[in-house]
Amino acid sequence: MATPMTPAQWRSALKAEGAPFTELEGWTTRGRDQATGKVFGPVFGVLNHHTAGRDSLNTVAYRGQGAAVPAPLAHALLPKSGRLVLVADGRANHAGTTTDNILTAIIAEEPIPRADRSTGVVDANDALYGIEVENLGDGKDAYTRAQYDTLVRFNAAICRHHGWGKGSVAGHLETSLEGKPDPRGPVEGYGKRGRFNLTMNQLRADVAERLAHPASWSPPQAAQEVTVEGPAYVNLGVESYELASGLWDEIGFTEEWTDELGHHAVNSEVFVAGAARFTGSLSLRFEGLPVGAVVQVRMSEWEGATLKALHPIHEVIGTPGGAYSVVPLVKRLGAGRSMRVRLLNQSAGGIEVASAVLSALAWKES
Ligand SMILES: [Zn+2]
Repeated sequence: MATPMTPAQWRSALKAEGAPFTELEGWTTRGRDQATGKVFGPVFGVLNHHTAGRDSLNTVAYRGQGAAVPAPLAHALLPKSGRLVLVADGRANHAGTTTDNILTAIIAEEPIPRADRSTGVVDANDALYGIEVENLGDGKDAYTRAQYDTLVRFNAAICRHHGWGKGSVAGHLETSLEGKPDPRGPVEGYGKRGRFNLTMNQLRADVAERLAHPASWSPPQAAQEVTVEGPAYVNLGVESYELASGLWDEIGFTEEWTDELGHHAVNSEVFVAGAARFTGSLSLRFEGLPVGAVVQVRMSEWEGATLKALHPIHEVIGTPGGAYSVVPLVKRLGAGRSMRVRLLNQSAGGIEVASAVLSALAWKES
């Protein structure tokens, strides 16, 4: 029994889990709560679906399935790209009815039994999050690698947030009283695995594997299957701040205009995480740096909280009327590594970091 996630909790859970997402306008207030007079929650699990169609955002978010089944039809839609779309935060029409013995098993995180109507028929939309995964459902159309990876991350993000295990993950085919067959179909691959068929037991096993690791974990990839996607765009900045003399200090980015990789938690120093390759620049403006005094700039490479490598130093030299510099950023970053930028103010007193704008294109390896 748990309270449904707030929009802020959705964002931070998905971000921490590395599930790429966009937010459909109005999603934070979209739901069937008012129309039905029933409030979404308490929540007990996540229900997985396939769309049985293409380009379903309009249907899922706005059109629904006629008067009988109004939109929204899910909390999230997951297209082939693997970048999910948050559609609704409230009650969604995805689950239809199920039986009490099934819901009880999901709550207890036990294997899902066959429906027993004698235990009572319940409205599963009250209690289950729903995700619609784009797939024709014809048994031939394949889920992309990116799509399945995000699906695992989505389920794990919700479970991790609520402290649930894999037993809180269900498929519509397991709960439906109307004989729904979803989700099913071939998957292009996942981790070191090649093509396989989507089953709920496999999805639950993959969610459990994620939950056994920190949220930042990624499944190991077969070496010969390294592919490079992208590039994604990253654009971060800071509010001006004081930089004391004589200490290496990582820039904590407070402004996030664009982070297509979703690697940068607000107010964090990490601007890209591996495995990835990136190219970009950092535009700096310092006030109060004495003429001829130096600020050193260098990228620092981390594995979790451990500093692993320091990259070459770039120097910004004080000139009359403020100090300006553009520092190039180009690197390849291994899996599990993250990159930050650190500054060392070598002048005698404190200076102001008036601006630090980082713009980069990043190619994520998978
Ligand atoms: Zn379904």
